[in-house]
Amino acid sequence: MTMNSNAKPLISLRNVRKSFGTFEVLRGIDMDIRKGEVVAIIGPSGSGKSTILRTINGLTPINEGTIRVGDISVSDPKLDPVKLRHRVGMVFQQYNLFPHKSVLENVAMAPIQVLKQPRKQVEERARKLLADMRLPDKASSYPGELSGGQQQRVAIARALCMEPEVILFDEVTAALDPEMVKEVLSAVRKVAEDGMTCILVTHEMGFAREAADHVYFTDKGVIVEHAPPADFFTKASDHRTQEFLSKVL
Ligand code: ADP
Ligand code: MG
Repeated sequence: MTMNSNAKPLISLRNVRKSFGTFEVLRGIDMDIRKGEVVAIIGPSGSGKSTILRTINGLTPINEGTIRVGDISVSDPKLDPVKLRHRVGMVFQQYNLFPHKSVLENVAMAPIQVLKQPRKQVEERARKLLADMRLPDKASSYPGELSGGQQQRVAIARALCMEPEVILFDEVTAALDPEMVKEVLSAVRKVAEDGMTCILVTHEMGFAREAADHVYFTDKGVIVEHAPPADFFTKASDHRTQEFLSKVL
């Protein structure tokens, strides 16, 4: 949660535009996210939510506009991709763990290989994060031995182990059986409560309402409106938001 709402934003998007061929997927996105803030992005399927996240971590290059994360200009073609990977973590719907590597190795690999940090120090941090994710005894297990909810918590520990400034969560519970959704949402909640800046795309409206400081609603590549959850879920004024909420609430 944010302490100082006047502080300069950690993450800024200005007039971000992205086309695939002739199809304009993002049509001028503006966002400001402060350090420690938890932001939820909701909206219909195909409205550009995943693309917004992918532009912030540099996976999808943009056609127009600017994106800044701290002192990094993401849209600068000269940007060092390692620097961006260090600062911006991402957790996907499909956890994408390496099946032939242990849980500990999955969590510790990127800081050792990409950031060249000492193995001993990284593994110590990885074990602590696995304990935080309530998986203290799974370090030497393999992903295939874990449930979907446990694998997703490993994926969150892996993102945290890079010590990023922000973590992007793209529908991290969408592929899970219902009984595992809660444990993963609790894990995301813990990450947020420990002060990590979080941007989450989610269909879990209850979670967005409880956990987010701010909710953005996207439709057809634009941000239709955004507000603190207390206002968003009761006073949404745009007909597109109202229609969406009437279907999902
Ligand atoms: P959301 O996450 O809100 O469901 P996405 O950001 O995944 O939406 O996609 C927005 C639109 O962009 C969709 O119509 C999708 O088909 C299209 N799109 C996304 N990625 C690509 C791509 N790499 N090539 C072509 N079209 C894409
Ligand atoms: Mg998506």
